[in-house]
Amino acid sequence: MASVEFRNVTKTFGSFNAVSDVSFSIGDGEFVCLLGPSGCGKTTSLRMIAGLETPTAGQVLIGGDDVTHYHPKDRQISMVFQDYALYPHMNLADNIAYPLKVRGKSVTERHGRAREVADVLKIGHLLDRLPSQISGGQQQRTSLARALVYPSQVYLFDEPLSNLDAKLRLEARGFLNHLQRDMGMTAVYVTHDQAEAMALATRIAVMDQGQIVQYASPIEIYRRPATTFVANFVGNPPMNLVPVDAVHGDGQLQLSAIGITLDGLTMSSAISAALGGGKTLTLGVRPEHLAIAEPGAPNTISGQLFANENMGPESLVTIERPDGSRVTARIFTDDHIALNDAVTLGFSREHVHLFDGAGNRIPA
Ligand code: ATP
Repeated sequence: MASVEFRNVTKTFGSFNAVSDVSFSIGDGEFVCLLGPSGCGKTTSLRMIAGLETPTAGQVLIGGDDVTHYHPKDRQISMVFQDYALYPHMNLADNIAYPLKVRGKSVTERHGRAREVADVLKIGHLLDRLPSQISGGQQQRTSLARALVYPSQVYLFDEPLSNLDAKLRLEARGFLNHLQRDMGMTAVYVTHDQAEAMALATRIAVMDQGQIVQYASPIEIYRRPATTFVANFVGNPPMNLVPVDAVHGDGQLQLSAIGITLDGLTMSSAISAALGGGKTLTLGVRPEHLAIAEPGAPNTISGQLFANENMGPESLVTIERPDGSRVTARIFTDDHIALNDAVTLGFSREHVHLFDGAGNRIPA
């Protein structure tokens, strides 16, 4: 296993910066997810680690060596692709053993090792079949087996679970989590699914428009999102973000918006710095931190019921505020709330997130 590092890496296609001056490092044995919306530069970053793209500027290091201009085969990496990229004319045994074949290993070694890995991945009974004769989940595991059959310094995954149905996806995610803990592999995993990133990663790099906007542990990203973009991207459903007007004096900050009641906050230097740019801030509260409350109570958001989706153990209750914006709560309720009923949602102060006019987190 080995570390991976980007030093001021930029990748330009024509005049378009797919990746802009990105620097970060992945420790030996870390499982890092590159998370972000379509087109933010995740796959391009992964392909630069693999050597399938060359940076326009900057350096890529693996295990401390500058591999920026190394051929993919000289990098000791394994990659699992979204479409599995299995060879259709080869049976599973030959597909899995392929990396050993290109490295000149004997037939006996190839088949022995392929069987070992296939057994671990519970596809050992399918080795004689062609890829077209197995299910999507089994194809995914075959592609994983091929990546694991030969020891690599770094394992790269490009949305490997996205072609699976919801149930198989959960199962495969659990399996990958187990594998990571078992092997302690250094892995870089591209996904736009925040739940997948939260479940698998030791650290998540949230990307937006070719840049990393936050690089931290899943719990840090959940608890202290650095920007409104991250807050809105991580969490299911995402954090509610409401613009509020700020008035301050006497060491107190009053935040107000129609349909919102809030206790005054103590002014901090961070808040005064944030207010330098204007008087509108963004208040953030996660859906799971809201509960039904009494109208008029402090720290509440009120509106009319827009939707009440029963999810089994809990409901997603969405209210529409007087300005037309919506706020969603994830709550346990048997109450019958009818469409357009007045609903008040309360939250405790420790669960409030504040962002400045540019969307950057204001430290508590
Ligand atoms: P997705 O989740 O949709 O795969 P992504 O975050 O992985 O997205 P990339 O595939 O890295 O995004 O692409 C980043 C940007 O670079 C996109 O706007 C894409 O259109 C552009 N891009 C990627 N490869 C090329 C290429 N070979 N030529 C031109 N533009 C490209």
